[in-house]
Amino acid sequence: MKAAVFREVLQPQTIEDIELDAPKGREILVRNVAAGICHSDLLFFEGTWDHPIPTILGHEVAGIVEAVGPEVTSVKIGDHIIGCAGGPCYECRYCVMGRPIICINRSHDRPASDTPRIRCNGAKIHQYGQLSGFAESMLIHEHACAVIPKEIPLHLASIIGCGVATGLGAVFNTARVEPGASVVVTGVGGVGLNSIQGARIAGASKIIAVDISTDNLTLAEKLGATHLVNAAQVNAVEAVREITKGGADYVIETSGSAKVAETSFDMLGEGAVLTLVGLPPHGTKIAFDMTKFIPSEMSVRGCHVGSLRPRIDLPRYCEMYLTGALDLESLVTQTYSLPQINDGFARLTKGTKGRGVVVF
Ligand SMILES: [Zn+2]
Ligand SMILES: [Zn+2]
Repeated sequence: MKAAVFREVLQPQTIEDIELDAPKGREILVRNVAAGICHSDLLFFEGTWDHPIPTILGHEVAGIVEAVGPEVTSVKIGDHIIGCAGGPCYECRYCVMGRPIICINRSHDRPASDTPRIRCNGAKIHQYGQLSGFAESMLIHEHACAVIPKEIPLHLASIIGCGVATGLGAVFNTARVEPGASVVVTGVGGVGLNSIQGARIAGASKIIAVDISTDNLTLAEKLGATHLVNAAQVNAVEAVREITKGGADYVIETSGSAKVAETSFDMLGEGAVLTLVGLPPHGTKIAFDMTKFIPSEMSVRGCHVGSLRPRIDLPRYCEMYLTGALDLESLVTQTYSLPQINDGFARLTKGTKGRGVVVF
């Protein structure tokens, strides 16, 4: 079967024949139908973050279960699934308290002494995110996915796995926006557009999109933003404070820029919550004014993949699409065949709007 093998930083991925082992124990074999190209894939491709190579990137993936190992209990052949990078254990104290995204036992890799899950010409290919979605099939642990309704088209379901789950979950699970609140989203790309949709679904009254791209802002308006602030043209803090009459109840920061995060802090009103979603380079630090933070009882929360609870949230987000609350079509602005994957990465570096999806 074909896969896009990533062998060297900043060098085009090569389409090669790979072999997957048969499922053992709690492993499942999935025929991939679609995989979105996420900004996090690009961070590995560019070498900002490290991963052993050769590998196969892709962690925003949906497909159909084709085979299951003898100990699998939660998934069956024919199920439609969305992949979850580094599936939770569902047993540690964080999983038990309902926060599987901070699970402390996320490794479901085979032991080093075992045969590798993925090989190419007999040599091991490192599995990325315990998924490796830019391949026609993947061999994963049953915890590294969630079963979803069969009614949702899989090329749309794929983007729920990371970008949509992160943007919506930041609003629903991490910030917990209540109806009538004012919400600012700084950066309305793949994740931020979904926080805009989440704020709309949550019943926010003012939904303010802040970005420097007019294309992104136009799409944000289509998805539910009530106010658009072009930070390249106006002072975004002043604009937000004017629209919200003194500061927003919630700010969701998705750009991953330390400067934008600090600016976002200045957009907060009394008792407001800043949710940091966008991932910066390792070691990035930000500074807040404590004399403002403490008397105003502000909060800053970290949000990883929308505080995702895979088996609850992923089917729920699919239902939101099926009932018409969630717009996924507008987000998928480009599809690629597997051999076109490097075009998809090149397009992402230009910061163009919406999501590119590889369809197998
Ligand atoms: Zn756990
Ligand atoms: Zn991602």
